[in-house]
Amino acid sequence: MSTPEQPLEGLRFIVAARQSRKPRAGEKVEFPIEAQDKRAKEWGIDQGGQYVDTAADFKSGVVAPWDRPHTKEWVRETGAKIHGYDAIVVTKTDRLSRGTDEDFSMIEAWASRNQKKLIIVGPDGGVWYPARHDSDFWQWTAAKRQANREWNDIRDRSMNRQLDLQTARKLSGGAIPFGYDVSGTKFDKTLKPNDLGWEWVPPIFQRIRDGKSLAKVAAWLDSENLKPVTWLAWSKTDPDERGPEPKWSPKSIAQMIRNRIYIGERRADLIINGQRLRGKGVVRIEVEPLIDATLWLAANKRLANAPRGGRRGPKNWEPALLTGSLFCQKCGAPMYRLKVRGGYVYYRCHGFLPNPKGCGTLVAESLMDSIVDEEMRDNDDAETYDYVFEPGEESEIQEEIDRIRVKLLDLPTKGLSYEEEDAERAKLRTKREELESQLKNAKPDRWIPKAVLNDDGTPQTEADRWKAADLAGKREILKKYRITFMWDEFEGERYPRHMIVPRWLTP
Ligand SMILES: [Zn+2]
Repeated sequence: MSTPEQPLEGLRFIVAARQSRKPRAGEKVEFPIEAQDKRAKEWGIDQGGQYVDTAADFKSGVVAPWDRPHTKEWVRETGAKIHGYDAIVVTKTDRLSRGTDEDFSMIEAWASRNQKKLIIVGPDGGVWYPARHDSDFWQWTAAKRQANREWNDIRDRSMNRQLDLQTARKLSGGAIPFGYDVSGTKFDKTLKPNDLGWEWVPPIFQRIRDGKSLAKVAAWLDSENLKPVTWLAWSKTDPDERGPEPKWSPKSIAQMIRNRIYIGERRADLIINGQRLRGKGVVRIEVEPLIDATLWLAANKRLANAPRGGRRGPKNWEPALLTGSLFCQKCGAPMYRLKVRGGYVYYRCHGFLPNPKGCGTLVAESLMDSIVDEEMRDNDDAETYDYVFEPGEESEIQEEIDRIRVKLLDLPTKGLSYEEEDAERAKLRTKREELESQLKNAKPDRWIPKAVLNDDGTPQTEADRWKAADLAGKREILKKYRITFMWDEFEGERYPRHMIVPRWLTP
């Protein structure tokens, strides 16, 4: 089959790109994409394609591309964005896969299922999956093999180091628990009990074993002026910038009681045959215990059986209408429902880690819910859509071609005579050419939006749907929207300002 001059003609494409730098936690900056990815866009347009957008994420060896924040939006099979393009163009396969077999089989299956093409930038229209011809097929296979090799190299290096450290039963990362100090050099670290540990850890465990509550033990340690481990870092920060002095809490005591380090056990990832079994193994690492196993077990049994007091979690009441959809317009953080003394209920800006205090934006639940309700009831312009699959012939023909490709590959192993093999090969090739020419005029498989109709035959609007829905149904509808809120001030008066925007329109 000859390659047309405009191989991407009629294809709407997105570019999966890589950001030049990784944003830090809480940082809301879009870093520029790498230069070669910018060229991918030009290349696609040059090949006759219709450019739609660029999805850029930072490359990570841990997170599969399908789970990276920007790419995810585009590939989610239940989302609206997936219907807006026909092909993903990349300069390198790491934009689509970490290089593992698992990633590749996942994206290949995804592409087949959704009738998408995966295209690596290159001469003669690039390399395509699904393959247009043998050359695509072999180049794609080669690209996968190369990516796989790079991935294995990196993984082996990091695992070997982890394994070496474990074999030596030394500390390989993790937080330092109360009562221990880190000693040793970079690759020869271990934990050593300190004087505070010898003095305080046994009585803490004894008190819990004897039935004292977590809160009582925390209060006792504070009254003894003992500092939790987080205190040291706090004491070193600028007095103008640091928060309140860290104190013991029921939570920190509970974490301590559950920690096996105090009986000399440290959990680490178990590595078997080069495969990391995350969180599955208990590996003993050389740590001197501060208490014996009998006391540890007794304290833990007591903790597990203790009546659950204290704060009631949100489990006891129905989820708020706007939870998950409402964000602070001032700082972009999510806003969650908060019940305060006297029965007042608010949505409150939750902020970003490491500052979970939020920026102070607060709005009464009843006010916010009614603002949203009013606007959704008014939402008469937006008609609702279902996406209906309209089968074409493309994928069926493609599958048939692939089957013939495999048959051709297997031919020499069939034990045929030269004449028979040649005849069979000619037959298969003719059939393949026939199918390839059919493919050129084949009707593509497509998802097409179909307006949903009311019982009386008029198009259903978002307002119709909203009015008919119960609370759970309304929450479901709101999943598609991003709502933001803040207070505006004008001449000493406060005015609520909000926006309701479909999520697919927001980054
Ligand atoms: Zn905020």
